[in-house]
Amino acid sequence: MNGDNGKVGRDRLLIVDDEPDVRALFRDIAEDLGFTVAEAGDQGEFLAAYDALDPTVILLDLTLPGADGVELLRDLAGRKCTTPILLASGKDARVLATAQRLGRMLGLVMQGVLQKPITVPDLETALSEVLTGPPAISVEDFERAIDRNELVLHFQPKIDLRRADIYPIVGSEALVRWMHPVRGLVPPGEFIPLAEDSGLIGPMTEVVLRDAVAQLAAWRNQGFELPVSVNLSPRQLTDLSLPDRMIALLTDAGLDPSLLVTEITEQAAMSDIGKATDILTRLRLKDIAVSLDDFGAGYSSLVEIYRMPLSELKLDRSLIVDLDNDADARTVVKALVALARELGLPVCAEGVETDRTAAFLQSIGCEKAQGYFFSKPLPAEDFATLASGLCHDAPNRSAPLEHALA
Ligand code: C2E
Ligand code: MG
Ligand code: MG
Repeated sequence: MNGDNGKVGRDRLLIVDDEPDVRALFRDIAEDLGFTVAEAGDQGEFLAAYDALDPTVILLDLTLPGADGVELLRDLAGRKCTTPILLASGKDARVLATAQRLGRMLGLVMQGVLQKPITVPDLETALSEVLTGPPAISVEDFERAIDRNELVLHFQPKIDLRRADIYPIVGSEALVRWMHPVRGLVPPGEFIPLAEDSGLIGPMTEVVLRDAVAQLAAWRNQGFELPVSVNLSPRQLTDLSLPDRMIALLTDAGLDPSLLVTEITEQAAMSDIGKATDILTRLRLKDIAVSLDDFGAGYSSLVEIYRMPLSELKLDRSLIVDLDNDADARTVVKALVALARELGLPVCAEGVETDRTAAFLQSIGCEKAQGYFFSKPLPAEDFATLASGLCHDAPNRSAPLEHALA
């Protein structure tokens, strides 16, 4: 290396892998793309090369002899590293995804994952994206994701606030993610708008419903039954066959319909009010609950809520985040909870991030809550671990994520 502090070129890649042949291959590809490259084969070399190169991207093999990639992630977090990190591993996709989440929890910039054996095009694409930013997701990409079963559900616990001594889990919300082969876990905000615009929201929702019901059946077989909520988009509320298809899925799995809850937004219900009323009423008649999502996000009208056959009102996160510091927000939320009680509707607050918020909501009689204070959305196995034992100590809710890596 030459130049100031040995830091040459705009784009500097640090390759961390214990196999010299693999490093050499990666080096060739990266240098062709214009990267200045440094290599490390173990933790000691890694820290020295990190300090010397000041990389603009790190390619980190998770399975190193001695210290593993997770320890290196901790080293980087300790150094307040903001360099994008690409994780590579021959372990299965789930381990990679979990390590990626752990990195994010540590405050690191997790750029993506590469499943070994890494092909030349995979690495070229991943490194090019570091330079240019990821390309926009195309309709074809998302169609392929559905066909290849790359969509996964994470489950965020819903907590009964009336038992603040133990905060029992009383259900969960299924939230879809895309396990992208290169980008890692892609959040729904990055593909739901495209799914809505392209009409792929229909096939996507079929997958979500199928997987949620399969998960309910698997958990029933493991000995616990907790309702799962699924999000419906406006398009589903114009599909008159939806209630029958949902019942068919539940019946085939031998499940009680009350285990499946639907979440709709008021906007969705209003887009074709005739069909939406038909569908929602039939869902309720079939014992499938209907929850009004994102209430208070800006579109809701107080008047409409008594006209819809609702079973629950979910208060939007934008109302809840201000509770600790804003007396007016507390007044509004208190009034909404009182109104819902008058209408006989239980309330679930979304986005509860602090114990103060949880305590306030409990003091005004809000029945349920969801939020990072209790748990982030979790993969099914981690949710099952939490639900079957670890639900008594809220501040340690993220522990299963780390255990999953052990
Ligand atoms: P939503 O249905 O209102 O889901 C709640 C969102 O808030 C989730 O984001 C959840 O991770 C996040 N959240 C929960 N607690 C907290 C907290 O304490 N702090 C913060 N900062 N965030 C919290 P996510 O998973 O990214 O989903 C975003 C939205 O994408 C969902 O909002 C929903 O509208 C949509 N979505 C997710 N899965 C599906 C699906 O299967 N079908 C459809 N149609 N939409 C979905
Ligand atoms: Mg929701
Ligand atoms: Mg919501």
